[in-house]
Amino acid sequence: MLKNERQDPAATNYPKAELVIIEKGLLGEHPTPVLAYRFDIYTLDPLGRSEYYVDTNCGEIVFTDPIMKHATAETRYSGFRTIETQLSGGSFRLVDATRGGGITTWNADNLSMSFNAAVHFTDNNDNWTAAEFGNANQDNAALDAHWGAEMTYDYFLQRHSRNSIDNAGSALNNYVHVIVANNGNNASWDGQRMIYGDGDGTTFSPLTSLDVVAHEIGHGFSDKTANLLYQKESGAIDESLSDIWGAIVEFFAAPEKQTYVMSEDISLSEDALRSMSNPKSFDQPDTYGGTNWFDVNGTNSDDDWGVHTNSGVMNHWFYLLAEGGSGTNDNGDTYNITGIGKLKAANIVYRAESNYFTSTTNYFQARAGA
Ligand SMILES: [Zn+2]
Repeated sequence: MLKNERQDPAATNYPKAELVIIEKGLLGEHPTPVLAYRFDIYTLDPLGRSEYYVDTNCGEIVFTDPIMKHATAETRYSGFRTIETQLSGGSFRLVDATRGGGITTWNADNLSMSFNAAVHFTDNNDNWTAAEFGNANQDNAALDAHWGAEMTYDYFLQRHSRNSIDNAGSALNNYVHVIVANNGNNASWDGQRMIYGDGDGTTFSPLTSLDVVAHEIGHGFSDKTANLLYQKESGAIDESLSDIWGAIVEFFAAPEKQTYVMSEDISLSEDALRSMSNPKSFDQPDTYGGTNWFDVNGTNSDDDWGVHTNSGVMNHWFYLLAEGGSGTNDNGDTYNITGIGKLKAANIVYRAESNYFTSTTNYFQARAGA
């Protein structure tokens, strides 16, 4: 990883001693100068990285200075949050080496899809404040992406014992300030990484809210499991699975937010993009083949035959499974459901997606799988 990051085949974590003079009892009342070796040591277990000063005479560790730190970030959408960063070349950057194969949040700097030219966001003192990052570039959106990816990683690890999207610690890379289609009103999983547009400022602000970040990483998880084909019913199921992960990760890390509403933090002209509790309020169907259902056998192939429309059916299924409800659906079927709670409902979805759904799963098969 280090070789790759530094583009240096000789890069190594092997500790190298440097002879220095440091005061024993440095921050105490009676400091005494001693000759010491300084080592920069990166440990996997326990995970950490510190500079250790070892007395050359007796081998005593006279001072320890942690390099790996928990930083505070004043995010754009979620207030103050704790993030992991990395010290490099005298400044801190949005690199979290503590989770899986790492989580990095890059600044694509409005260079159209030029990922190779992306640079790090940096901070001098590891206190990522709104005064610094709530700037004209809206750089604080990067703090949400970084924290959001960390929380998504934590959710899958803690609730499903899954180490990143592939359960093999695959690295997660956020790219913020990417020039995307639709006037910047887009975020996506491109098959390898998460990319976020800045929004046009009237429909959306930068698309890095927690539910959006978890939604995009959810697409990565789907790629590594069911790998649903992204059109018609399988595509709608893929979209719904991502909305479910967006909702449930949001509930995991920020239960004070509106769990079943998608994109409420970034929406400027409307309240949100989608609602799982009431899909019809955003022109989605809540019933298979019901009102707002997009005809997947028709000639209109917009949005890959309505993947962001027909996802409403499974979204509402998840809502009813978790929270319960009663009524009559658009097909005239009456229902009366006692909710089993969000976490159990999410466990069912996790197992269905990773064990029973395949690339061509349609709604009929999804019902059987779930
Ligand atoms: Zn999606």
